[in-house]
Amino acid sequence: MTRAFDFIVIGGGSGGLAASKRAGDHGARVLMVESAALGGTCVNVGCVPKKIMWFGASIAQTLELAADYGFDIERRGFDWSRLVSSREAYIRRIHSAYDSSLSTSGVTLVKGHAHFIDRQAIAVEGQHYSAPHILISTGARPSQIETPGAELGIDSDGFFALKHQPERLTIVGAGYIAVEIAGLMNQLGTQVDLILRRSHVLMNFDHEIAETLHQQMQDSGITLHPHDTVKQVSRNPDQTLDIELNSGTRISDCDQLLWAIGRRPNTDSLELAAAGIEPDDGGFISVDDYQNTMVPGIYAVGDVTRGPALTPVAVAAGRRLASRLFDNQPELKMDYDTIPTVVFSHPPIGTVGLTEAEAEALHGDQVKIYRSRFTPMFSAVTRHREPCFMKLITVGPEERVIGLHLIGLGADEILQGFAVAIKMGATKQQFDNTVAIHPTSGEEFVTMV
Ligand SMILES: Cc1cc2nc3c(=O)[nH]c(=O)nc-3n(C[C@H](O)[C@H](O)[C@H](O)COP(=O)(O)OP(=O)(O)OC[C@H]3O[C@@H](n4cnc5c(N)ncnc54)[C@H](O)[C@@H]3O)c2cc1C
Repeated sequence: MTRAFDFIVIGGGSGGLAASKRAGDHGARVLMVESAALGGTCVNVGCVPKKIMWFGASIAQTLELAADYGFDIERRGFDWSRLVSSREAYIRRIHSAYDSSLSTSGVTLVKGHAHFIDRQAIAVEGQHYSAPHILISTGARPSQIETPGAELGIDSDGFFALKHQPERLTIVGAGYIAVEIAGLMNQLGTQVDLILRRSHVLMNFDHEIAETLHQQMQDSGITLHPHDTVKQVSRNPDQTLDIELNSGTRISDCDQLLWAIGRRPNTDSLELAAAGIEPDDGGFISVDDYQNTMVPGIYAVGDVTRGPALTPVAVAAGRRLASRLFDNQPELKMDYDTIPTVVFSHPPIGTVGLTEAEAEALHGDQVKIYRSRFTPMFSAVTRHREPCFMKLITVGPEERVIGLHLIGLGADEILQGFAVAIKMGATKQQFDNTVAIHPTSGEEFVTMV
């Protein structure tokens, strides 16, 4: 027997939860299928546990600086398992909140792995379900590598499953997941090596921001191995790992090796061909501006598409799709332009709009750049100084702000408000007309000359 719904959502992560709740609130009969824990990557092995670890690391950093503020504190230890259990308890509370909000919105939840039977029907553990509208929001998972001994390492999912803090950790990768985990583990006292194929971390970010972080990671004690890759990994009798790099460098007696080399969409076991969908070369599902796939009635949002892999993007796309389908708002769609994002490195990075290289490629000599590099007041009185660097990118005689980038203490919280201004098309003059808030780091953006 096939159970019929108005809307089937495959995957209960950021995008799927948002779409199913919104559709349920609009009165649709919604089925949500989830094969693992509700909340997907973000809640279970992404943003949430990462940010809790980042807070822990920031406390460790503050304790180091406390003496310069007059505190006589002896740090007697750090209990990894206590931090992990606080983190997991919080995640369990989020799961319960999701359970109750799905039932408030009238969404039927089925646990299991879904695959397509045809364009309007799926199977989950032998049961069949149909709907005229089906959303694929199955997200992505860490990429694997073929290097000999690679299986001795873990990925970011494995990182969040660690029961003990590694004394020595080697991370392979240069993207935001690699630098975030490297930074927080370094602050928590682990000896960190970071292996990166190219010259510096975060190659897609504004180059001065990326270079500032690269330098800061080095200054804070992380050993960076640029222009290098792993040749092979082997396990020693005492269970530690030996990691041989293609440059000839050998990292010995390492407790953990973490691969953070990208993510692959979860499409291979969906039996997409049964629905007439063909993923692209990378396995991603192509969608138009309205999240429609090539098959009418089937949609995709979030990391399974080639859009920016960020929780708020998946959420916004999912909500807009649900309102378009079930609240008679036929023109509603996600605006993928000017999406702000933060990297929870140490110090954090905030970025919105074009990088200097992108702006110059697009607008040539119409681009004018403002910069400021300074020591934030918090670390101006401590022995350990952490830099702050800010950059405004403007275009044309009216100096419309088309890019804003910063690295430094508080960047994560400073960015959101400026992102609103930039989305509204603010000019440098309007930034300058805004009275500064003193003494803050953010005030630099309205006083730049
Ligand atoms: C370490 C890490 C840190 C991150 N930090 C941030 C951050 O700070 N800020 C930010 O914005 N983003 C962050 N992200 C990215 C963010 O987590 C993702 O962009 C977001 O979770 C994507 O949501 P989604 O709905 O597309 O997929 P997901 O959240 O991955 O959800 C997909 C769900 O589908 C389920 N599923 C898959 N296949 C099937 C199937 N066949 N049947 C049933 N269920 C299925 C999966 O079990 C999963 O629960 C981070 C990611 C990682 C890995």
